[in-house]
Amino acid sequence: MDINSSNIEQIVRQVLDSMNGNTAVAPAASGAVPATAHVAMLTGLEKFEIKEYPMPTVGDDDILVRVEGCGVCGTDAHEYKRDPFGLIPVALGHEGTGEIVKMGKNVKVDSAGKPLKLGDKVVTCMIFKDNPDITMYDLNKQNVGGADVYGLLPDDNVHLNGWFSDYILVRGGSTVFNVSDLDLDSRILIEPCAVLIHAVERAKTTGILRFNSRVVVQGCGPIGLICIAVLRTMGIENIVAVDGEDKRLNFAKEMGANAVVNFKNHKGIEALADGVKDAFGGYLADFAFQCTGSPVAHSNIYKFIRNGGGLCELGFFINGGDATINPHFDICSKEITTVGSWVYTLRDYATTFDFLKRAKGIGLPMEKLITHKYPLEQIDEAFKTNLKMEGLKIAIVNK
Ligand SMILES: [Zn+2]
Repeated sequence: MDINSSNIEQIVRQVLDSMNGNTAVAPAASGAVPATAHVAMLTGLEKFEIKEYPMPTVGDDDILVRVEGCGVCGTDAHEYKRDPFGLIPVALGHEGTGEIVKMGKNVKVDSAGKPLKLGDKVVTCMIFKDNPDITMYDLNKQNVGGADVYGLLPDDNVHLNGWFSDYILVRGGSTVFNVSDLDLDSRILIEPCAVLIHAVERAKTTGILRFNSRVVVQGCGPIGLICIAVLRTMGIENIVAVDGEDKRLNFAKEMGANAVVNFKNHKGIEALADGVKDAFGGYLADFAFQCTGSPVAHSNIYKFIRNGGGLCELGFFINGGDATINPHFDICSKEITTVGSWVYTLRDYATTFDFLKRAKGIGLPMEKLITHKYPLEQIDEAFKTNLKMEGLKIAIVNK
């Protein structure tokens, strides 16, 4: 090891820490904790700067995590382009995962009660501190929308608040899950997959979605593709995917769609609805998932659903404008049961870990969803790729 002044400072700090008995320190074999951490700080619109900060003190309830990777989310892209949440300067990245390198003496188990030790791989979900009413298994809580999450927090004097970094300080009161039994790609996909676990749970409340129902999934971006995967792990195999791009539709087939419909090959909604009906062998869908952010797509989807069928709308994470429907034809006379879905509950988050194992178990190519990987220094590239809508899930992966 090359001993320079920062190494000495770090060694002294670690020795002092262990003498005080305050924190457990990762054994040297897994790499000592450096004296500084690096954060890709969004300091202006479309402007990241890699900032260096001193490694923070780890409190009795805190966990220091070496970041291995983090997915780029649509929310991150909005923040990068327009700062709608007014957070700049901000350390983004909420789809991250990494390894515990240091933890306070009070930290013994994760939010599901699973033991935690140095070297374990973890993810975080929401932070309780501002909302003590939300508990792990509160089924009355519809979702965690509005709760604090790492990667969408205001900057503070710790600075290690987002996963687009090499270290993050997970403070006491945060939810943290031990996911050491999942590989890195699966762990990066947990957050977006939880959105679909929640949507399918919402869909099930209609009582319409059953084993081998006919299901149409409209939109084959990451959300639609993961929707197909979740349905497959539930034993639903009669799935028709609708999108305007053949490349995405081919991926939908790989993910388990039975048949696909390219809306560009059908002129007008009647012809498109016939296309969907043909793809089901002459039947309309029992249930539909609307996974695009397009108001026209929302208007269209009712035409794919049979009388008495159901719809889950989950495409509008942000306001995408108004959609026109005909209440008589689309809802009343067909008696359609509709649910909306947004974000996830903590329980959905934990369910997602099992889903990812099951998806792998039945051979779904989940890892192919991550089409681009960039090191932290190339975070600008990563965001540009995301904004160009190239690929599917873009991820920052640390060496
Ligand atoms: Zn996200």
